[in-house]
Amino acid sequence: MRPTGKLHLGHYTGALENWVGQQNQLTETGERAYETCFLIADYHNLTTSLDTSEIYQHTMDMLIDWLACGIDPEKSPLFRQSQVKEHAELFLLFAMLITSSRLERNPTLKEQVRDLNMDSLIYGHLGYPVLQAADILLYKGNVVPVGEDQIPHVEITREIARKFNNHYPHPLVGEVFPEPEPKITKFSRLLGLDGKAKMSKSLGNTILLADGPDEVLKKMRTAVTDTQKVRKNDPGRPEVCTVFSYHARFSSPEELDAIAEECRSGALGCVDCKKRCAANISLELAPILEKRRYYETHLGLVKTILLEGEVKARAIASRTMQEVRSAMKLGETI
Ligand code: AMP
Repeated sequence: MRPTGKLHLGHYTGALENWVGQQNQLTETGERAYETCFLIADYHNLTTSLDTSEIYQHTMDMLIDWLACGIDPEKSPLFRQSQVKEHAELFLLFAMLITSSRLERNPTLKEQVRDLNMDSLIYGHLGYPVLQAADILLYKGNVVPVGEDQIPHVEITREIARKFNNHYPHPLVGEVFPEPEPKITKFSRLLGLDGKAKMSKSLGNTILLADGPDEVLKKMRTAVTDTQKVRKNDPGRPEVCTVFSYHARFSSPEELDAIAEECRSGALGCVDCKKRCAANISLELAPILEKRRYYETHLGLVKTILLEGEVKARAIASRTMQEVRSAMKLGETI
């Protein structure tokens, strides 16, 4: 995840809760089903903004949210891309294994160019998925939890892994890299309060994980509902309502059914519906908010967690790069 500051509900439903689930998942015999690593993609941030003045603050804000949501640094190292130099090294080698026309065909890139109104593209942005491939394969990741928009990047990662393995079999290890599978998250497109686009910081349509109940309610009041439901008792259409899409995630199945019925019949007005929605969101956010406060007042601990994560990550990354160099016969002396 790129360090863009305090996280919003979209990050929670589209990424974090799945990360925590995967981190804590056990096998039938009670062992951890996955070893998990979580990366702060600070290099990737540079593809859309050269302003690094707030990157440290944004990193800390994001880390606090990760920890508050249940990412456990004992189980999962947390680290910055820029602090493990092997990311840059593997990126360079991978850049030799893929054509620029393949990268130009990347549908995620085409969407970004359109959404961000970009008239020209920096070289590093074209290479975004190549760096991502290095991020994944440095840790020999075989399962990557992603939203749908990231599937093309996992596909590029698979192609790069295959190409490397074919060209450079390791004398002892054989294939150095796995071909990772995407693990698609269910709520990978949470709508923003404006109902027009994905919840996103740059669009200013977010509810933050750091928002208390009053703030959540205040923001919820601005949420766009069914525009044809003008008066309180007009029948509504839950299927086109942004607030209903939040109920789908944050209210119980029974409450969801009741809300859909009461909205359709006109018994439930939007003001009350929003109050219920805000209350359910705040109920789920309450323990996160409490943990957030703890970490906000223990910043030394957060820094230590990051630095320790980076030591662990460097050890894994360095081992992989030794295999890579050895498979490629780079640095061999006669
Ligand atoms: P970003 O900060 O946009 O780089 O988002 C990081 C990750 O958070 C994405 O790859 C998604 O998995 C998730 N995410 C961000 N915004 C949303 C959203 N509105 N709905 C669902 N998932 C989201």
